[in-house]
Amino acid sequence: MGTNPPERASAAAKILAKPADYKVCEGCGSIVLKKALLCPNCHAYRFDESTPLVIRQAELLGSRAAASVTKEDYH
Ligand SMILES: [Zn+2]
Repeated sequence: MGTNPPERASAAAKILAKPADYKVCEGCGSIVLKKALLCPNCHAYRFDESTPLVIRQAELLGSRAAASVTKEDYH
């Protein structure tokens, strides 16, 4: 019950709708809100704010969620 792939996919969709509101943590690759000062995941304070990178990371997040749905279908 720990994972929730649909929620993850919709989070990715939310980011893709407004990629300019987000940035990517240089420490762990997480997508965080642009106004965040520290990464909530690894507490790094260095971010890449380039929108194309945010989009790429969000697509990765979305496709990873889709992959885990597929995997569960085989069980
Ligand atoms: Zn991080």
